[in-house]
Amino acid sequence: MINKVYINGDIYDANDAKVSIFDRGYLFSDGVYELIPYFDSKPFLMEEHYLRLQRSLEMIELENPYNKDKWFANIEKLLKSCHFENYYLYIQVTRGMPRNFDDNILREHAATKDYQTCISMFYSKINSLKNKKTLSTKAITMEDKRWMQCDIKSVSLLYNSYAKTIAHKKGAYEAILVRDGYVTEGCSSNVFVIKDNIIYTSPESNLILPGVTRLFVINDVIKDNGYNIRFESFSEDEMLNADEIFITNSTQGILPITHVNDKLVKNNNNSKISQKLQEIFISKIS
Ligand code: PLP
Repeated sequence: MINKVYINGDIYDANDAKVSIFDRGYLFSDGVYELIPYFDSKPFLMEEHYLRLQRSLEMIELENPYNKDKWFANIEKLLKSCHFENYYLYIQVTRGMPRNFDDNILREHAATKDYQTCISMFYSKINSLKNKKTLSTKAITMEDKRWMQCDIKSVSLLYNSYAKTIAHKKGAYEAILVRDGYVTEGCSSNVFVIKDNIIYTSPESNLILPGVTRLFVINDVIKDNGYNIRFESFSEDEMLNADEIFITNSTQGILPITHVNDKLVKNNNNSKISQKLQEIFISKIS
């Protein structure tokens, strides 16, 4: 069975889904995206993901093409064909292609024309977090060479995917990024460290994506269960000397990190607190 894809109101087989090469998303990464996990066929934190999509669109001055009801109706239309229990819904909105090429200009940096916004969506299978096979993982560190608006969920993921490929080649799941000596975030995750029973994570800023999972973990997992959290930046050295490290994102939930750059996390607390938080998280998604 082939996954279906939504493009501008129509549904296609994944093999047949196509957009124009003149789409500004293709030529300039002029677009944003969102990824919503579904666990046991139910969306998790849908509203929060929708609000972040809205915010990303505002930040690149792209009008939301649909109102909320229309978004949800179109999502339902696509997901009718989805028979997975655990999957993510990927949504991408780009400024699209010019409505006409009468001036014979096919590509220009400035978005001066009238464009047909391009809305595409697809779903992709993920593993259930309940019978999670990967309970912890390895990471590497790399310099954060991205631009300065990492708070926009932009489709421009060149450095993120490059760094994550290097991590993969080194047998790690994630590359944790470091800017001016301080940890920002992972290529597709937010980072937390634990030292002396206090949990630290970088405060929200233009240097990190405000992860939907990050906020849920802070409020519903950490604070609700009486753990201490501080919103403070920490250096790479501080991370390497932490008792525990864990990362969060929509498809993995909470993932303890056991090794960084092939070295065991300093005090190797056996990820005791991270694993507890992971258990709480998993109990809350169902
Ligand atoms: N930071 C970056 C750069 C990401 O790409 C992601 C998710 O893909 C995250 C953080 C985690 O965000 P969320 O929890 O909303 O999945």
